[in-house]
Amino acid sequence: MRNLSTLILMTFAFTSFLGSCSVWDQLGQDPSNEMLSSYSNSPRFNWEEKVFENRIPDILEKMNERIDWRLTLEYFTSDSSRRTPDKPLPEVNPPDLRAFLEPTDSLRFIWLGHSTLLVNAQNKLILFDPVFSNSAAPVNFLVQRFQPATLSLEELPPIDYIVISHDHYDHLDMRSVQFFRDKEATFLVPLGIKSHLEYWGVASKNIVELDWWADHEFEGIRFLCTPAQHFSGRTGTNQTTLWASWIVDSPNSKIYFSGDSGYDEHYQKIGDQLGPFDAAFIDSGQYNERWREVHNLPEEAVQAAIDLRAKQMIPIHWAMFELSLHDWNEPIKRSQQAAEELGMELMTPKLGQVVDLSLKNQFSHWWEQVQ
Ligand SMILES: [Zn+2]
Repeated sequence: MRNLSTLILMTFAFTSFLGSCSVWDQLGQDPSNEMLSSYSNSPRFNWEEKVFENRIPDILEKMNERIDWRLTLEYFTSDSSRRTPDKPLPEVNPPDLRAFLEPTDSLRFIWLGHSTLLVNAQNKLILFDPVFSNSAAPVNFLVQRFQPATLSLEELPPIDYIVISHDHYDHLDMRSVQFFRDKEATFLVPLGIKSHLEYWGVASKNIVELDWWADHEFEGIRFLCTPAQHFSGRTGTNQTTLWASWIVDSPNSKIYFSGDSGYDEHYQKIGDQLGPFDAAFIDSGQYNERWREVHNLPEEAVQAAIDLRAKQMIPIHWAMFELSLHDWNEPIKRSQQAAEELGMELMTPKLGQVVDLSLKNQFSHWWEQVQ
């Protein structure tokens, strides 16, 4: 009887804990069967399995064979002290929003760490993979930020478009999405993600869902959904939503945003068909040899920028969350070395720094101030 009361008490405590953290809401909502059937024309969609697939369909299975107990062992036995910075990263705080918002024929951006990026493309404001929560996980004590975002959601200027690459927690943040549900912003997302957004209260009319190689134009700006080599799911590797990279093509500038991706021939294909690009933001962090199919190594990221025919490259997916075993600053060190060797121009903005593609920008080795 006593055991039973303890069990009931524990169940109650656990459920209240889950409820208070809104963990269930965090999981989002996978697409319904009806939604999935509407994807049957997509060459990426395996109708029998009801999953989206990469160009090489069994690439994740092969990768998973290398991910076993030894990885867990390494995680707990290797030196973790350098996976996070020993003090706050230098930043431009507050960012110069006046300069950022001045009318422009060019394109400006502010990188907010990891893959969160604010862009002013000829006076339209676009937010990529907005993650402003304290944590990139369903429960807030896991995968915590290194430091608060240089701009909070409330401090952001009015956003016109929000571009999402895929539904992992470090790219699709429920709290950030909910902040915009009563605003005017239009979401551009890969197939399936609409289901999560609607579940969190975003109106269907404010969501444009695209397959790879499809595009949508708004006010002279063309958004193209392009391939990536990755996976998806908020409760495992469900694969019922698509992952993607994106191109924003405005009359005077064209940029590429890689989302999360391993190195594959899609970079060359996109470069040949849709390049060159004024700037390419490429996944360059949280890599590991064991999962290189789903995250570029830094050297591969630089090669990707070359394949894309990008004039300049900005390494992203680093400097905010610890999701791998490498030192927090290894991505930028290796990116720099590779960029020098391969002849790619690297932009290394501080968090919060305004960068204007039409100007000569100043970049420092700011990461060297932190261990
Ligand atoms: Zn991911």
